[in-house]
This record gives sequence, structure tokens and C-alpha cells, in this order.
Amino acid sequence: MAAHDSQKTFLDTPAETLFEFLKTQGQGAFRAQQIYDWFFNRDAATFEEMSDLPAGLRTVLEERFRLHPLRQRRKEESHIDGTIRYFFEAHDHDTVSTVFLPDQDRLSLCLSTQVGCAYKCQFCASGLVPFKRQLSAAEILDQILLIRKDQKRSPTNLLFMGMGEPLANYTQVVQSIRWMTSSTGLGMSPSRITLSTSGLIPQIIRLADDHMKVKLAISLHAVRDELRLKMMPVSGKFGVRQLIKAAKYYALKTKAPVTFEYILLHEVNDFEIDANRLAYLIKGFPHKVNLIPYNSIPGIPYERPPLQSILRFQEWLRVRGVPVFIRKPKGLDIGSACGQLGAATAKI
Ligand code: SAH
Repeated sequence: MAAHDSQKTFLDTPAETLFEFLKTQGQGAFRAQQIYDWFFNRDAATFEEMSDLPAGLRTVLEERFRLHPLRQRRKEESHIDGTIRYFFEAHDHDTVSTVFLPDQDRLSLCLSTQVGCAYKCQFCASGLVPFKRQLSAAEILDQILLIRKDQKRSPTNLLFMGMGEPLANYTQVVQSIRWMTSSTGLGMSPSRITLSTSGLIPQIIRLADDHMKVKLAISLHAVRDELRLKMMPVSGKFGVRQLIKAAKYYALKTKAPVTFEYILLHEVNDFEIDANRLAYLIKGFPHKVNLIPYNSIPGIPYERPPLQSILRFQEWLRVRGVPVFIRKPKGLDIGSACGQLGAATAKI
């Protein structure tokens, strides 16, 4: 049956509505459990495949609901490190990119949460794509399910680090986390999920109070307000000190370290005075720092510091007692490294 506009996306339909619908079909609520099982555990592509449901019910479900809101269009594999960038198409033809990052036993997925991004960080290609719309929880989940099916293996780690600002799509992102962690859904531990934000303070507090317990990463990138405002014009309206206070609240509430992401831009934010202030600001609660050497984006004038400066910056932090790691760029040749998910997503 061809998709039509009156169709609702199955996973974006509240469970109660589904129960009601099943009732009108003379079916018990246990059918919902069967459907969720096919969807989350058995890689069903259609309702038709759900062979232990009555045939009539399968037909009505097929007409009424869109099971998978995304369709895989193509994928590109890095020749350097095996990273794969997937391109999906939503039912309104918008494109969504997701990056699969295999690293021995660790299989991470870098999920997108919006089409485009409103945040305009000066060093990020996603900020060059005008914000178009939020992704729904089902569209976020479908990135995982479709890649799991294509790869024939399950991801071990989920990263909200693709296109978009996850905390600017709070309701759908939190709903997707509920599906990722619930036993009806993917049953993953929240400790395997990392949400990266440009620093929306009210939502960071809310996420802590909502007991989501996912790991939090904050794209800090600068330790002085004037510089941060220049680099991150929208998110920068929250002061650095306030942001770190929110991070502390999150760390203490979830009893887990907060990661600070710090992009290194040559002769912009890579001075000893920056390392010094960073180490000073994040004292007093569990944390770590991930240094991200800038990945070049055509048309953006920043430069990556030479390796020597990167290592020196790491050392400045290390001697001040900060646990500090350098993030290796992945999928550079297919535009999949941090900050590169940009306009190329527009072509499928
Ligand atoms: N909007 C969220 C999620 C995106 S995560 C956030 O800002 O955290 C993507 C990470 O890559 C962020 O830390 C982002 O700041 C970083 N990034 C963006 N552009 C980059 C670039 N050109 N090189 C390296 N890292 C970049």
C-alpha cells in the first residue's frame, strides 16, 4: 500500500492511541507488545511481515501507520577508517545524515536531531544549513533501526552529535531516549548514550531533573564570554560561568562526569591562558575534556593548530590535573568528521 498523508508514524503515536485503535479492531492490548517486539527486536520492515498478527489487522495497520518514517537512500564509506555516512530520506523528502563509527568492539552512531541547525556556530558546517525542522522521536530512532538492519549488528553507543542542537528539540529527543532505554524499546543503558549540546542552560537543568541519566557533553570551545559569543553567536548568550554551573548541577545530580568538548582553532583559543582558565573553571566536580582539533570546512577561515600545539595544549591541562583526551577525526574523506555534516546532506 502506498504511503499517504493521512498516515501517522507508528512510533510517534502515543501508546494509548494505539491501544484505542487496536480496541476498535476488536484486538487486545497485547497486540501492541507484539508489534513493538517486531519493530524493536526483529527488524520488521513492514506490518505485513508481522506473521503472528491476524492478516486483517496487518492490512489495516499498513494503511493507517507509517512503520519506518525514514528510507535509506545511500551510504558512503571512508577509505581511511571504515566510518560510514548514511543518507536517509524522510517522507517529506528532507535528508537526514547519520554516521556509523566502528572502532573494534565499540560501534557508535552519531545521530541527527534536526534538519539544518539554527545555532550558526562559526566553525561548523551544520550551521551553514538553515534550520528547517525538528526530527520526531521516531525519525531519531529510525536512524538506529535502519543502520542496525543494514549492518546486521547493534550499536553499542549512541551519540547525539550529528546535525542539529538536541536540546533545542527537547521533547522529541527525550522521547527518543525513553525508547532507547525502555525495556519495550531498545533496552540500552543510559550510560551508553551521550548527548552533546552547545549549552542550552535551562534544558540542561531540565534534563537532570527529568532523570534522563544520559552522559552529557558540552561544546564549550572558549573560556571567555567575548570569544565564545563570537564563535557561537546564539548559544553564546549563556555566560561561560553559568554554563559551567549547569554542568556541575548535571554531574552532581547524575553522579557521572560531564565531558567538555573544546575545539582547537589555531591562534584563536589554543593559548596557555585558555588551558589555564579551563582547568580552573571546571574544578570541583567530575569532568573530562575532549580536545577536538578543528576539521576544515570549505569557506570557513579557521585553521587547525599544528600537532605540536595540540599536544602542548593537552599537556597544559594534564599538568593541572584535568583528564584530557584528543578526539581522532573519523570519516574525514567523506565529510563525516565533527562539524562536517553540512550542505552535502542536501544532495541524496
Ligand atoms: N549542536 C550540538 C551537537 C553537535 S555535536 C553541539 O554543539 O554540541 C558536534 C561537535 O562537533 C560539537 O562539539 C561541535 O562543536 C563540534 N564541531 C563543529 N564543527 C567542528 C569542526 N569544524 N571541527 C571540529 N569539531 C567541530
